[in-house]
Parts: sequence; structure tokens; C-alpha cells
Amino acid sequence: MFNKTVKELSIGLSQGEFSSVELTQHYLDRIKAKDGEINSFITVTDELALEEAKAADQIRAEGKATDWTGIPFAHKDIFCTKGVLTTCGSKMLENFISPYDATVVSNMKTSGAVCLGKTNMDEFAMGSSNETSYFGKVINPWSDKEQLVPGGSSGGSAAAVAARLTPIATATDTGGSIRQPASLCGLTGLKPTYGRVSRYGMIAFASSLDQAGPMARTAEDAAMMLNVMAGHDAKDSTSIVKDVPDYTASLNNSIDGLRIGLPKEFFNEHLSPELQNILQDSIKQLESQGATFKEISLPHSHLSVPAYYVIAPAECSANLSRFDGVRYGHRCEDPKDLMDMYQRSRTEGFGDEVKRRILIGAYALSAGYYDAYYNKAQQVRRLIKNDFVSAFEDIDVILSPTSPSPAFGFDSKGDDPVQMYLEDIFTISTNLAGLPGMSLPAGLINGLPIGMQLIGNYFEESKLLNVAHRFQTATDWHTLAPKNI
Ligand code: GLN
Repeated sequence: MFNKTVKELSIGLSQGEFSSVELTQHYLDRIKAKDGEINSFITVTDELALEEAKAADQIRAEGKATDWTGIPFAHKDIFCTKGVLTTCGSKMLENFISPYDATVVSNMKTSGAVCLGKTNMDEFAMGSSNETSYFGKVINPWSDKEQLVPGGSSGGSAAAVAARLTPIATATDTGGSIRQPASLCGLTGLKPTYGRVSRYGMIAFASSLDQAGPMARTAEDAAMMLNVMAGHDAKDSTSIVKDVPDYTASLNNSIDGLRIGLPKEFFNEHLSPELQNILQDSIKQLESQGATFKEISLPHSHLSVPAYYVIAPAECSANLSRFDGVRYGHRCEDPKDLMDMYQRSRTEGFGDEVKRRILIGAYALSAGYYDAYYNKAQQVRRLIKNDFVSAFEDIDVILSPTSPSPAFGFDSKGDDPVQMYLEDIFTISTNLAGLPGMSLPAGLINGLPIGMQLIGNYFEESKLLNVAHRFQTATDWHTLAPKNI
């Protein structure tokens, strides 16, 4: 059962091949047997899951089932789940039981899906390797001789789906955190247009960049999950009032005549020859289905990482000021006075990478430097966005690498944080512009999966999913699984 996609499980449930209780128990057993090594879950909600599965079977017996009724899945531990531990990968929230559900969580509940638990992640979603989690590193199930990172920050969601411990999971992406782990774990992940999915109850990192989306095995499953996740929400002021199409409806559309742009800045001499070859093969495959390719230019893309590492820390320093030991989260023992409590609670509760970002952000926002750093970064952000707006005047979709390399070893980036920041060199500009982007498996390098990225115009998730599905209909990279599952 565990190798089936959501679509196949949905058919299995509707044909009575198995019940949701059986299916849920099957995944819970797998988590118990295998997650000790992988560490992809922070919390497994087994009792709740079985209750939800029972309820789903009941709904099916009454003839009221939908596609999602009784399908198991997992939530990244960044989403507030009522009555359930919600840690965001941090000691700060080690004991935090959320009093309410995020909108993504309530949407999934309404769909009838069964939540297996909460997945591990980089602390407050800051990282590209899952090494910053307070709850320990997540091991990429594709690891062979050496232990490899799953990518981050949604590394727990990615590792859990890759190891078939859950058929699908939710994830979030501020600078690449859905697409980069999808690339490193051989999965299909989609970051929707900014404003497409509600951020209410999703613990904020950088509010103008954060967006939630599915971490799936196939484009079809991603489309099914986006149908449930997307939509306007009055509780998020940046959520867009716009109808949600049925993302599964256009998966099989012809891509004959579709115009795909190849940014020359991304296909440069730094790209490894192996990755060049994989992308060339992908291009040929899409060409054989009638897509046309042309070189485009995104002239400011080399500024995306520096601009992001001013804007994201600036927003995070403001967002994380709420963790002060007063209302919730970690509070130090026996504070002398209020200042001592603030200081020690934050010193003890946050890890090094989070502290680094808060310091950078507070500095960039300080009176003397605001114009030099924050305002400048915002101006650069506009230039990056304008590059995309001009590019999309005569193309439909952009194709590029997702991550510079496949999964790497732990501690392999040394002491220089910038080496890690460069993991997102191809993904960050999409967040700065607010565009939708996805990653899908495109090949193997030394036996490890690597993805290609598709970037679309605003609200054109359907087009991305369509191209990805057509690619997956003709290739089988997305069906490959790690050896030892
Ligand atoms: N790796 C990037 C960072 O560390 C992006 C993280 C994310 O998308 N949440 O900020």
C-alpha cells in the first residue's frame, strides 16, 4: 500500500480495497518501524489519526466521501494544530500546544484527510539542510554509504514522503524550503503564488515571502492537495480574493506550442555538467511534446540571495520578537526582573542560526542603516520582480535548475553560513517576486535524485502542474524510491 500515490489510495478507498483505519494503521506501523533512523516526525498523533480514520470510514459508509476522505498525510510542524504540540523545530516552542488551527490545518480537516503527525524542520524554517532543528537532524532516505541531508527547511516533510511514511505532506517555502528538499529527496513540491494559500496560523518567518504548499510524489497529487489548501481567507490580510480552479482539471492539457524560457543567468558555467545534461534531457522530452524553448534574461537574479538575506532577516527579527517568554513559549527559570527574563528566555530558546538572523535583521532595520540595507534591498526586490514581469510577456513558463547539487553530507558546508545560503540561488528570486514555482524529479546524479524547477506567472499554478504532469506521464524519475524503504 505504501507505494501508492494519493490518487491511487483515493481510488483504493473508494473501491473498498482497504479502509481508512487499515491504511492509517499501515502508515503508523511504518513510522514506528522506520522513523527512528530518519527522524522525520517530531510528533506522531497516532490516537487522533485513528479516530479521524474511523470517522472517515463512517462518512464513506454514509456515501458522503470525497477524494480526500480517509487519506493519511502529515503537517510540517510550522502549522498550528489545536490541542497538538506545535514546535516550529525550536526549543522556544518545545512545549507549545496550539489553542487554534491554522487555516491550512482546518482546510485539510474539512477535506476528511487523516493527519498522522507533525514533521521535523529547520528551526523557524531557517535553513537548507534540517541541521538547525532543535529536535535533531533528519536523514535523507536516499543516503547510501554516508548520511545525507534531506534539504530544508521542509526536510522532515520531504524525508517522510520519500521514505513512504506518509503519501504526502504540507510544507512551506520562504526562499526555497519546498522546492530544494523536493529536489534532494526525489519529490514534486509546489510553492504557490504569494497570497494563494492562507498564512493564518502558519508560524511567521518572513511574512512577505512565506507561502505554504504541497510536498508530494507526483504533480497529480500536488494538484489534489493544492485544491484543498488554496483559497481566500479573511483571517490573512495578504490572502487574495480569487477563485480556486480545479488544479486537477488541466493536468492532461496539451503542451504543444507552450513557450518555455531558459534564463541564461541560471544556465551558466557554474552549473555541473551532470546537471546540465539532466536539464537538456528534460528540455528534449518537453520539446518532443511540442513545447518551444528560448533563452531569456533575468538580469538582476545575481542580487536575489543578497537581497533576500536582508529582507528575510529584517522580517524575522520583527516576527520573532513575539517570543519573549511572556505569553507562551520558553521562559527562563527564576528571572531577576523583566529584562533578565526577556534576555535569558530568548538566549536559551533560540538556536544559533535563528539568533544570527535576528541580529542581522535588527541591524538592517536600525535607524542609521535602514536606507542603506533594508530600503536598498526592497529596491533590488522590485528590479528582480520586474525582470520576471518582462520575461513573462512572451513566454508561459520558465525552466531552470532547482538546487545546484543533489543531497550533500552533514556539516559539509563548513563554518561559512553563506555556503548554505547559496543552496537557494535558483529558488529565492521566485519568492522575492511572489511567483509560483515547483520542483520535480528530473534525473539522478551519482544515484541521488535532483530536480528541475518550473516557474510560472502569477496564479498560473495550473500551467506548472500541467507541464509537470505531462513530463511525468512520459518519464519515470518521479517513481524512483530510495533503496532501503
Ligand atoms: N534556506 C532558506 C533560508 O534559510 C529558505 C528557507 C525557507 O524557504 N523557509 O532562509
